[in-house]
Amino acid sequence: MYQKQIEQLVILQQIDGEMISLTAEVENAPKEIASLEKKCRDVEAQRDQVREKLGYLTDQLSRLETDIEDDHVRMKKSKSKMMMVGNSKEYNAMVREMDSLEKLNRSRDEEKVAFAEEVERQTTADRELSEQTEALRADLETAQAGLKTRLDAAGKRIAELSEQRTHACGVIPKPILSRYEFIRSRLANPVIVSVTNGVCSGCNISIPPQAFIELQKGQQILSCPNCQRLIYWDQHIMSQEKAEEAQEA
Ligand SMILES: [Zn+2]
Repeated sequence: MYQKQIEQLVILQQIDGEMISLTAEVENAPKEIASLEKKCRDVEAQRDQVREKLGYLTDQLSRLETDIEDDHVRMKKSKSKMMMVGNSKEYNAMVREMDSLEKLNRSRDEEKVAFAEEVERQTTADRELSEQTEALRADLETAQAGLKTRLDAAGKRIAELSEQRTHACGVIPKPILSRYEFIRSRLANPVIVSVTNGVCSGCNISIPPQAFIELQKGQQILSCPNCQRLIYWDQHIMSQEKAEEAQEA
């Protein structure tokens, strides 16, 4: 009698455990997709920002290159003009102009190097972000394509389980079932747990020796004094499983 009731409760617990995880999956599946979509958008936004920066840098770089070239032309012209100046005053003025042009050119060259380095960095970032975006998009497509199948399968299994549950509840005596349902309404899953070597597997705390002795007698359904879950001695169920195995063999 006791053994049968415990077994039925354990079966009910298995059904409820699976139902809880399936219900969570049904709830979470669309959320997972939404968070994947958000990640995708975030990485794409980051990539767009990098591209915008890259566009600006490239513009600046080509402007600098044009300036440097123009200066070279100007320097060439000045040099040929220098050959033709008449007096030293004019000549000195031209030397000063050439000096400042050269200085300007040098600083532009340095700037160009810095810009080119930054362009390279941003190009690498662009490539990495593009790869990430592609991978995320692929994940998202797979997840979206699989969502319906996943939800359908979960829904089908939940229907099966609720039928099994109705059956399981039918064979459990009412007072015991109410105790089970009462605990379910108050505590996190599971409701009925095994006690192994005197320790409740629901809360991982040792039950008092007297209660453990009572439990081993297997006469009435007991609760863990600490977490209030229904408890059974693992040897009771294990020996049953072994007996079944022996029968099957
Ligand atoms: Zn406990």
